[in-house]
Amino acid sequence: MQGYVLNLVKVRDEDLIVTILSENFTYTAYRFYGARHSNINIGYKIDFELEINIKSTIPRLKDVIQLNFPWLLDSKKLYFWQMYIKLFYHHLKDTEELDIFYFHLLDDLVVKLTKQNPKRAILENYVKLCEFEGRLHDDFVCLLCDEPIDENISLVRGFLATHSACNYGKNFELQKIEDFFHNKSLIEFDEEEVDYLWNIILQGL
Ligand SMILES: [Zn+2]
Repeated sequence: MQGYVLNLVKVRDEDLIVTILSENFTYTAYRFYGARHSNINIGYKIDFELEINIKSTIPRLKDVIQLNFPWLLDSKKLYFWQMYIKLFYHHLKDTEELDIFYFHLLDDLVVKLTKQNPKRAILENYVKLCEFEGRLHDDFVCLLCDEPIDENISLVRGFLATHSACNYGKNFELQKIEDFFHNKSLIEFDEEEVDYLWNIILQGL
């Protein structure tokens, strides 16, 4: 089967405990070190097998083949991708059974990263995640004062909306945020705005 490596923990010399997101599950498996084993890293997509051993609490990860991305040697893209994957790991940490949506969401991002700026591609991907999880609020009521937001909007963690006066945050035009949430596109946003939104997702998905 195939999956994305969400997390690695080094144990005993070079052995690894690996968390993998597959189509419908997250697996945690043990990988014994082998000099000829293919290299794995956070964010890599792999083809793999799991071997269940009754003596062990977690399965053994074996027959790993790393699947290539066209941009894997682009260190900037890999850097942002791995950052997002780490956030993904924390977000899904205690979840074993998953909707296939998450796997497809990452597949989709791999394709988008081929052509797009990494921060923009990831932010647009993240809005889809929020929408799927039913937490993309487009009724625009301020999280802090509970009053409707008519023009000056600011976003906080989870892209929840507040008045910019209520959280002293960066001010956005309401229309732009509405378009972003609706079209999942940051085309109208400049680099500074993209950086600001990027820093919000670094607080956690
Ligand atoms: Zn408010």
